[in-house]
Amino acid sequence: MKTRILSVRDDGIDAVSAAFSEVIESGGIAAFPTETVYGLGGNGLLASAAAKIYAAKGRPSDNPLILHIGKEEQLFPLIAEMTAEAEALIRAFWPGPLTLIFQKSEIVPRETTGGLNTVAVRMPSDPTAHRLLMDCALPVAAPSANISGRPSPTSFRHVKEDLFGRADLLIDGGDSAIGLESTILDLSGQVPTLLRPGFITLEKLQAVIGEVQEDPVIRPEHIIAGIPADFRPKAPGMKYRHYAPKAPLTVVRGSAAAVAEALNRIADEDTGILTSEEHAALFQKGRVLTVGRLKDPESIAHALFSTLRRFDELGVHRIYSEDFTEADIGTAVMNRLLKAAGGSVADAETL
Ligand code: AMP
Ligand code: MG
Repeated sequence: MKTRILSVRDDGIDAVSAAFSEVIESGGIAAFPTETVYGLGGNGLLASAAAKIYAAKGRPSDNPLILHIGKEEQLFPLIAEMTAEAEALIRAFWPGPLTLIFQKSEIVPRETTGGLNTVAVRMPSDPTAHRLLMDCALPVAAPSANISGRPSPTSFRHVKEDLFGRADLLIDGGDSAIGLESTILDLSGQVPTLLRPGFITLEKLQAVIGEVQEDPVIRPEHIIAGIPADFRPKAPGMKYRHYAPKAPLTVVRGSAAAVAEALNRIADEDTGILTSEEHAALFQKGRVLTVGRLKDPESIAHALFSTLRRFDELGVHRIYSEDFTEADIGTAVMNRLLKAAGGSVADAETL
């Protein structure tokens, strides 16, 4: 497939937005920047556009897509019913990195929702995404713009690496401000349920609507134990291997000194070590990459996926990571890191 590339900086937002609308309205697919990660978008009301997205990513078609909108009025035709809770959340967090799940209306094809009766909707805050979605007359179905299973793309280079030749248009809009996918909150059942942790934390949601429960599959202990083959998680994406670098990854638990002692003993030049800036000096062996500062958990969220991709470029055979805090955005960081590790954890003392 012929792929056109446009950059907001070089080509200007007007030209970029016109090209984006043209691709989406003619049933094609286009990658675009958002504040979470880059998305691969298509017409959210067109089954054949969903099929193109699944094919380009190599994504299983039972893994539903999130619909992206630029204006609140675009939400109502997509959903069966608006609730007071949803209104409060939208007032507090949209535009922003929060995806809400509703019972869907008739106009949303099942091909877009992975066969479900529910639909996920988000209004991004990234200025480029917001402008593209305001100008486009259609809701845009978009998963992350990576080949299925790989770490999500947080810079244009990653998008080009994965999707050149597989999409009609790739839009360069710089690096993603947050670097982790949106928080997903399911409002379609009795109690609002957190299906994916993100920048908008459980505590922030509870401060607005009171009771919110966590889907057990997002808890670290469940990722480590593994999801049984016959289990059907509420967010179908949760059952797939995700965010993974090419080399096997293990999260090492213990004090920084104990982790460094163990890895200095077992690492060689083909071993990747993922650590914080504060702890980097403790590691004497292996290919050491820092992912941000412990003092600033958002810096770790921002750099996680790009650092996992850098290990692929270095061609390491094995990766070990330190264990990061679960406070605030740390919950989302550890959720992605443990998924990337396929639940593999080790204790520094027994390595
Ligand atoms: P991605 O677009 O790659 O961030 O993946 C979208 C995530 O949203 C996947 O994990 C899906 O399982 C989840 N998702 C999308 N729509 C729904 C829905 N209707 N119900 C539950 N989860 C959903
Ligand atoms: Mg994804």
